[in-house]
Amino acid sequence: MQSICLPNGETIPQLGQGTWMIGDSRGRRAEEIATLREGIDLGLSLIDTAEMYGEGHTEEVVGEAIAGRRDAVFLVSKIYPTNATRTGTLAACERSLKRLKTDRIDLYLLHWRGRVPLAETVAAMEGLKESGKIRHWGVSNFDADDMQELSGVPHGGEVATNQVLYNLTRRGIEWDLIPWCVKHRTPVMAYSPVEQARLLAHQGLKTLAQEIGATPAQLALAWVMAKNGVIAIPKTGRREHLRENVGALEIKITPEIAAKIDALFPPPKEATSLEML
Ligand code: NAP
Repeated sequence: MQSICLPNGETIPQLGQGTWMIGDSRGRRAEEIATLREGIDLGLSLIDTAEMYGEGHTEEVVGEAIAGRRDAVFLVSKIYPTNATRTGTLAACERSLKRLKTDRIDLYLLHWRGRVPLAETVAAMEGLKESGKIRHWGVSNFDADDMQELSGVPHGGEVATNQVLYNLTRRGIEWDLIPWCVKHRTPVMAYSPVEQARLLAHQGLKTLAQEIGATPAQLALAWVMAKNGVIAIPKTGRREHLRENVGALEIKITPEIAAKIDALFPPPKEATSLEML
């Protein structure tokens, strides 16, 4: 498994597993848990979840999937911005730990920017780190100017990742956010890397994937992971799709393929606001 370096030098897998919608359907739960477990076996040991998903239920399903294998997993969860106050952060984290049935979260993210001052959230996150309840903290849906502001608050430079929307059809962050993150050695975690499956029906992508002996999902994921310091966290609740997605690790994006992709999905020509899903 290719890996990405966190700012403290620790390495994490470049391909992880998303969990939005996991646990929403009772009938699919067994297959979803089997998928998460097989994903860990295959090296996709970074699992991304959030207190928001299923209003906590998804964290419970993740807790079940990783039971007995906690040490093999790099667990990411996220806090609602409204909870991210000095005391609310601790309480929300405790609730997540309980649902996840663990004593620590490896990376705890502010889900998006809210009204709580960044300095207050960062201080609370640093407190959680000191007490061992989280190992790293980061942010999500932060644009380049948010990152710049964050770096100016006490301990803001401790940010371990920024999780944002990034895929072939959402390339805006290549203009300013990815360069900012590369310069400051902050990994980017790409969410919705196959655009919630909408991308997979794109005719140009299908044709190009066929030309190189890949599937559209594999090509889309390999392209995301070919970018400097970018982690991809596709969600699937099906083992068949998981195995297919793992195949993305075998695909090399040559300059020729990259040029064909740029023709199909043009890179940004100017700064745009960060998109969110
Ligand atoms: P995604 O990973 O781009 O797409 C997920 C969808 O694609 C699911 O419907 C899945 O269906 C399907 N899929 C996956 N692999 C496939 C394959 N090989 N063939 C066909 N279909 C496939 O979108 P996402 O779930 O929005 O994003 C990924 C993760 O990022 C989330 O689960 C969540 O953990 C995180 N996220 C974070 C934020 C944030 O604000 N921080 C926002 C959105 C998402 P099946 O399950 O049927 O395979």
